[in-house]
Amino acid sequence: MHTDIPRLAIVGGGPAGLMATEAACAAGIRVDLYDAMGSVGRKFLLAGKGGLNLTHGEPFDRFVTRYGERRHDVARWLHAFDAEALRAWARGLGVETFVGSSGRVFPADMKAAPLLRRWLHRLRADGVAFHMHHRWLGWNDDGALRFATTDGERSVAADATVLALGGASWPKLGSDGAWVAPLRDAGIDIAPLQSANCGFELGWSEHLRTRFAGAPLKAVTAHWTDRHGAPQSRQGECVLSEYGIEGSLVYAIGADLRERIAQHGEALLQLDLAPGIAQAALAERLAAPRGKHSLGDWLRRRAHLDAAKCALVFEGADKAALADPILLAARIKSLPLTLRAPRPLAEAISTAGGVRLAALDEQLMLRARPGTFCAGEMLDWEAPTGGYLLTACFASGLLAGRGAARWLQGRAGL
Ligand SMILES: Cc1cc2nc3c(=O)[nH]c(=O)nc-3n(C[C@H](O)[C@H](O)[C@H](O)COP(=O)(O)OP(=O)(O)OC[C@H]3O[C@@H](n4cnc5c(N)ncnc54)[C@H](O)[C@@H]3O)c2cc1C
Repeated sequence: MHTDIPRLAIVGGGPAGLMATEAACAAGIRVDLYDAMGSVGRKFLLAGKGGLNLTHGEPFDRFVTRYGERRHDVARWLHAFDAEALRAWARGLGVETFVGSSGRVFPADMKAAPLLRRWLHRLRADGVAFHMHHRWLGWNDDGALRFATTDGERSVAADATVLALGGASWPKLGSDGAWVAPLRDAGIDIAPLQSANCGFELGWSEHLRTRFAGAPLKAVTAHWTDRHGAPQSRQGECVLSEYGIEGSLVYAIGADLRERIAQHGEALLQLDLAPGIAQAALAERLAAPRGKHSLGDWLRRRAHLDAAKCALVFEGADKAALADPILLAARIKSLPLTLRAPRPLAEAISTAGGVRLAALDEQLMLRARPGTFCAGEMLDWEAPTGGYLLTACFASGLLAGRGAARWLQGRAGL
């Protein structure tokens, strides 16, 4: 039933949906928030287990480069709500933030739960009606939203809708990508959902897997070929895992690795395990008489490699390459790893692909479905870890919530 005050349905209570809710409430719109789960913000709470990296303290021009090919679109969202605005918003909820040594921004207590609790309290006080256990199924023939609830199917005729349904990683937290089917049926163009910020598989020996899974590789430089065929390099840290390799460095370059695998069936990642020393100087150091030292001990002393790096040097190496200081130095400076596949989407930290941005107008309204807006990770953008994911979810949620409010007010002649 329509009353004088328009009603907005927000479907999905993650950071994007909650921010859309806040923006619409601030514009005087009544909001009903629906979520498939029994409570909202489950992935946000999980992010809190890792310290809740809310955003990043680097300058705006650098910040937006993290969104790769989508940086121009995302920059527009961030002009409405950037890292500083996000920190001020958290402060408004009584949560101070700090910039860590890497430039990452965290709440002072590094927790998500207090922030979420205060936020939900404020939204409830603003009159938001929360409808849990409402799984959105699509639209029925007269355009009403269809929900599966514990009491069976229910339809809701909203005046406008914001869909903020997340990606498809960690599906047990609520976002399972099931929204792709009804949106595709409605003619919306959707890029296939893929793993982002994930590990990559390669076949380790039993020895490496059992002895070194979980070992960090500190201060290594990765060399790889990007999706356009250009050589790239970047320093950082990664972690050996049972199935292959993961960690922040791998996540940061993962989009290129994923694309290379899609194009060529595999991706070559070369690791410089001793970035502090030139190859010739390293060969010279290794050529000194080894005496009674084992090769592992020698590598620790002369190349400063720890046990995990030594294990990588030995992994699959032929004896001749290990015996010759020049070949050995070359191997340490350019250790080849052939990556076969990204880890499954359910395990990834985030999702690439989603509703193509060309399907949306500047307010994030679906061009093919006036009155329906989309926000958050369900849109076709990706970014590495570092707070960039949450920032873009908040910013796009704000834009969609404001856009929906404006659209409703325009229709009501308010
Ligand atoms: C382990 C982990 C750690 C992370 N740490 C960080 C971090 O420190 N910093 C950072 O920036 N990012 C981090 N992220 C990523 C970040 O949490 C997500 O990008 C963000 O939560 C996405 O927000 P969203 O609102 O778009 O979607 P979500 O948070 O996924 O919320 C979507 C909501 O929609 C609901 N929903 C889905 N489908 C339906 C349906 N059909 N009907 C009704 N409701 C539905 C879900 O139940 C959910 O509540 C992390 C992710 C993971 C998995």
